[in-house]
Amino acid sequence: MTFWGNKSVLVAGGAGFIGRHLVEAVLHSGSKVYVLDDFSTGQEEPLKALDQTNLIVQNCDISQPTTLPQVDIIYNLASPASPVHYQSDPIRTWKTNILGTLQLLEAAQTYAATFVQASTSEVYGDPLSHPQKETDWGHVNPVGPRACYDESKRAAETVLMDAVRTLDADVRIARIFNTYGPGMTASDGRAIPNFVAQAKTGKALTIHGDGTQTRSFCHVSDTVAGLLRLGEVPAARGEIFNIGNSVENTILEIAQEIVALFGNGNDIVFENRPVDDPQRRRPDIKKAQDLLGWTPKVALREGLMTLLDRDEPVLADTL
Ligand code: NAD
Ligand code: UDP
Repeated sequence: MTFWGNKSVLVAGGAGFIGRHLVEAVLHSGSKVYVLDDFSTGQEEPLKALDQTNLIVQNCDISQPTTLPQVDIIYNLASPASPVHYQSDPIRTWKTNILGTLQLLEAAQTYAATFVQASTSEVYGDPLSHPQKETDWGHVNPVGPRACYDESKRAAETVLMDAVRTLDADVRIARIFNTYGPGMTASDGRAIPNFVAQAKTGKALTIHGDGTQTRSFCHVSDTVAGLLRLGEVPAARGEIFNIGNSVENTILEIAQEIVALFGNGNDIVFENRPVDDPQRRRPDIKKAQDLLGWTPKVALREGLMTLLDRDEPVLADTL
């Protein structure tokens, strides 16, 4: 029996982009999965396509008091992740990341469960150091329009690490860097689904600023493999890990690659840059490589090709 063969796992945010891939992987291992999701940015339909034998889906807002099932492992992915989504109702974003995380942590303590938190590279803000290491403190505008997400994810890390120190909680934190793959919707607002949808429909690709800002994009299959390792490796207990691909590209390079793969000589237009948009972002992943034995495998072009054969769901809704 493998580690994952007989576990019960709660995935908060399991109807979202990364959550759905994680749920599929855990179900595939033979474990039982409870999905808690309010479907604010996630969708129920794709979960219905999975084997239902070991899957229980509950419509629930994790920031509201609720009775949680007894499980061995809790993954907290419930949070809007696209800037468009998390800024549309910033107070709700706060409640989800603060009250929701607290409620799940309390359940993990009650059931002596392992707690894996989906944190974010946004805790580094617009980083002063490069590449970003887990020991970096970050450079975040605490009152800007991104702060509802950045600062609430930072506060969630604070309470979780307090619980490690004072309650001996079994917490593991993944600082996830930009992840892409099948299942993102065209209305998601993030760069890759936007560019792919624009390229496929003959529209101009919309670059914010001059496109010299960088990101390091990780394929969702690699991100999910990292999250699974976090849940299973004993040495991950009480630790924080960058989970991302260390290959860095400018946003202009990403747009050009997507036009080459999906488009037909589409124009590229340059629009205003959002406030506090980070200029550079690349993870130092040595800690994850050493302690988790995890390293991303999917190169950018190969990863983008996984969007090529599928008209849905990246084009499931209109721009
Ligand atoms: P997503 O928006 O596709 O999924 C989030 C899911 O959480 C959705 O199904 C949504 O309905 C659900 N949700 C939101 N608020 C909720 C609430 N109050 N109660 C219950 N469910 C709620 O986002 P994603 O890209 O899949 O990201 C998943 C997690 O990973 C998030 O916590 C995000 O912060 C983190 N993350 C993602 C990325 C990335 O590049 N995708 C990068 C860094 C961190
Ligand atoms: N971006 C862009 N055009 C878009 C969407 C995003 O140029 O249509 C830029 C965005 O301003 C940022 C980068 O691409 O500089 C990555 O944005 P995304 O929203 O994917 O992720 P995040 O900002 O959270 O890193």
